Amino acid sequence: MTAVDARPMVSLRAVDKHFGDLHVLQNIDLDVAEREVVVVVGPSGSGKSTLCRSINRLETIDSGEIRVDGELLPEEGAPLAKLRAEVGMVFQSFNLFAHRTILDNVTLAPLKVRKLGKDAARAQAMELLERVGIADKAHSHPAQLSGGQQQRAAIARALAMQPKVMLFDEPTSALDPEMVGEVLDVMTSLAKEGMTMIVVTHEMGFARRAADRVVFMDRGQIVEQAPPAQFFDSPATARAQSFLASVL
Ligand code: ADP
Ligand code: MG
Repeated sequence: MTAVDARPMVSLRAVDKHFGDLHVLQNIDLDVAEREVVVVVGPSGSGKSTLCRSINRLETIDSGEIRVDGELLPEEGAPLAKLRAEVGMVFQSFNLFAHRTILDNVTLAPLKVRKLGKDAARAQAMELLERVGIADKAHSHPAQLSGGQQQRAAIARALAMQPKVMLFDEPTSALDPEMVGEVLDVMTSLAKEGMTMIVVTHEMGFARRAADRVVFMDRGQIVEQAPPAQFFDSPATARAQSFLASVL
């Protein structure tokens, strides 16, 4: 591999963050290569969401460095808006605009931020809705969709910005169990298509199938990281062993 190919898509160096007295991210070093799928697991409160939110600057860090595609995160203004477009984020709650159709939800940001023409934005949106399996819902409003369909719409909306990396923070945690699979299927296809992904999830089956690497966080630290088979079959630390015993 050339040096350029080896450059990580997302890179965190010595990242520290506190909420008051709570040291929520402790000296975090993490590189995510282009096309790599990293699944982040760990107990509630270990800092997983804060880590994700820091990568598109929804949280600011106290010290250290975060780079996306080699660039330090911009602090504000148009460069920050561009970064947020390049780093797609899907949350537990779907965050769709309730009073807009699904099609509008997917075209709004491309029209505004990417300055796509109306026809091009619509064509792209329909293609994405097709890809996540809800093209027939284009003219519905979010409330008319199931949770699984809404989350797939949220994924399509993020993809419409042609992100360099996608962050997923417990994207299936708010879903009824029968809808979890359809969202994980969309994420699995994305992973296979080569999207660079950071996924926080408690879905250990997905982690095993789709992850290139599992990162285990506990109390603000990355305690252990390994390919999924190794992590699940022979976790190296007592903390990971006890976490796995509690979720598997
Ligand atoms: P996880 O996603 O792993 O459950 P979080 O990153 O959400 O963990 O939270 C890590 C810790 O930081 C928790 O103890 C949480 O209560 C605390 N925390 C998160 N956000 C804030 C905030 N805005 N202000 C104060 N404490 C926070
Ligand atoms: Mg969280």
